[in-house]
This record gives sequence, C-alpha cells and structure tokens, in this order.
Amino acid sequence: MQRIDIKSKTLDELQDMMRQMEFPGYRAKQIYHWLHDPRGGVRTFEEMTDLPKEMRMILAQNTEIRGAQIRLKQVSKLDGTVKYLFRLNDGEHVESVLMKYRHGDSICISTQVGCKMNCSFCATGKSGFSRDLLPSEMLSQIQEAARDAGERISHIVLMGMGEPLDNYENVLRFLELVSSEEGMNIGMRHISLSTCGLVDKIYELADKKLQLTLSVSLHAPNDQIRSSTMPVNRKWGMEALLKACRYYSCQTGRRISFEYAMIKDVNDMDWCAEVLAKRLNGILAHVNLIPVNSVTGAEYQKSGIPRQKRFISILNSHGFPATVRRTLGSDIEASCGQLKRRYEKEGGVEDES
Ligand code: SAH
Repeated sequence: MQRIDIKSKTLDELQDMMRQMEFPGYRAKQIYHWLHDPRGGVRTFEEMTDLPKEMRMILAQNTEIRGAQIRLKQVSKLDGTVKYLFRLNDGEHVESVLMKYRHGDSICISTQVGCKMNCSFCATGKSGFSRDLLPSEMLSQIQEAARDAGERISHIVLMGMGEPLDNYENVLRFLELVSSEEGMNIGMRHISLSTCGLVDKIYELADKKLQLTLSVSLHAPNDQIRSSTMPVNRKWGMEALLKACRYYSCQTGRRISFEYAMIKDVNDMDWCAEVLAKRLNGILAHVNLIPVNSVTGAEYQKSGIPRQKRFISILNSHGFPATVRRTLGSDIEASCGQLKRRYEKEGGVEDES
C-alpha cells in the first residue's frame, strides 16, 4: 500500500485527516509545525515528541515523510556558495544551490528529476527525465540546506533541475505550503519561478495572480535561433510566448525577468540586442544576461566581457534595464545538472569539500 505523503498536505487537509483517523483536530497544527519547521523539519515521527506514542506509530504506518538527504556538498572558496546533491527516498538525486547575499540566503531548488525540455546548452536535459518532484521533496531541499547552513533561508528560486511549469500541480501546492504562515512563511515576493516558456501554463499561472517573480528563459531574439537551441520553441514560438508574458505582467502587475544566456557568435551579436529590444517593446521587463556555462557535450563558448557590455548598452538605449547575472560558485560547477552528471559518471564518488 502506498503511504500518504504527509508533508505535501496542507493544514486543512491534515485537519481532515485527523478527523478521519479519529484524532483531535488540534493535532494537525502540531504535526504541520514539526513538518514545516524552517530550520529543518523532522525526518521521523519519533521526533514529534508532543504526540502520544501510539499516534506516532499509526502515522508512521499510514503516512511517510518524504525527505532529501545530503549526498554530496561542495562549498565555493570564492564566495561561500554551497551546492548540494540530495538523495530522495526512492534513490533518485537532485541538486540545489545555496547562495549568500546581503539581503539574505537564497536557494535554487529543483522541481523534477531530470527534464524533458532538452535545451541544447543545458546539462540537466542531457540525462533525460526521470520523474516529477513532490511538493514535500521541494520543501525538503530548503529545510535540509537551512539545517546544514544553520541559517534561515529567505529567498527561493525555482531554477534548478527540471521545468517547474511541467510539474504545475505539485509546484503550485509547494508554493502554497512554503508561503503558509504556519509553515516556512516565505512570501511570494521572495520567490522566483523560471520557465523555458510553457505558454498554456503561463496563462494559468497569470490568472492565479500570485506575487512571485516570473523568469522566462528566452536566450534568443528570434524563432530561428531559439528553435535551434530550445526545442520548446517549436511548439510555442516567440510571439505566442511574449504575448503570454504581456498577459502575465498585466494580470499580476509584476515585471518579468528575461534570462538570456549569452553564447559567443550564436546570440550575442549587436543585431540580436536590437531585435530583442524591439520584440520586448511594451512589456514590463528586465533582462538578465548570463554568460553561458560550457557543458560537456555542447560546443558553446561564453561571450567576452566587452560583448556583454555592448549588449547591455544597446538594451539600455531602448529603455530596458539589463544586468549581467553575478556568477556565484563558478569553482564548484554551480549551474544545476552538472554535479549530478559527474556523480553518476564517476559511480557516486563522495566529495569531502
Ligand atoms: N526549466 C526552467 C528552469 C531551470 S533552468 C527554465 O528553463 O527556465 C535555469 C536557468 O539556467 C534557465 O534560464 C536555463 O536556460 C539556464 N541554463 C541552463 N543551462 C545553462 C548554461 N549552460 N549556461 C547558462 N545558463 C543555463
């Protein structure tokens, strides 16, 4: 019998569960607090010390706490960025990156084991797709990193392995749980969700009017370039995508962050910036340039700094704020998908750093 994934339940659902199991309703809040503690959260029912022993036993028989166990950890000597490889209950692995900023700790978490999207520059897609993550498994990445760092995490980016909008229901439930006052209480304005552009889901999300930041991985000024690096663009071209972005911004009043990985001689020419600026016209936008990380198996090179500056100045001259994303953890393969690939290739070698 499949046990219930208790950490993915909302407080209301836990209350219903208590009723069905004939436990007093107030137990739901106690359990919820144990499971959603921002400093870590319990890993076993035994640790729920204010519940009667018998109740803990019954919970353990019928439900399970899905967690994430640190298998590998790398700390950047340059900026303290920490990269984790987590093992999930069923033996699958995902990565998260903890970044330290002046405004607080921010964690980049995974939403799927692998990814179906197959962008040509991305390491995650190279290992294929295995499964969606459960809300509890997204929460556990944050809690285990917080426990390990001994710090409270204040910001979340859904920008690790996987396409969050391809795991829409679980991601929405995760957002509800992580922002709940009785839980980790991380406000939507402290959360970013990054998508390669699943247009139908962008509309659905827009109608929820959440105050999170939507990041759209654009990476190209036109369909020809975008389709050659991002297969998703063959399903929804740029025009449809940008129309959905306009709608999102109108519905939520939020500025959209466009991610643009600069690849030498592929998408970094002056005309690309000109065309990009034209196409973004009328959208409340910010452009985030990322010098592409080279991934084994793809032949891409980073654009040089003068090229990045030139690209920014063209976008600025058209009135778009644009920045080059600060590269954190460049010495620890901090872009997601890379650590897992190496781990699998080397047969699961432990790293002591
Ligand atoms: N699937 C989502 C989120 C995960 S990828 C998305 O596509 O947005 C997180 C970000 O890293 C995306 O902007 C993605 O395009 C970018 N990315 C992937 N591989 C990269 C690489 N080699 N160099 C730079 N950015 C990369």
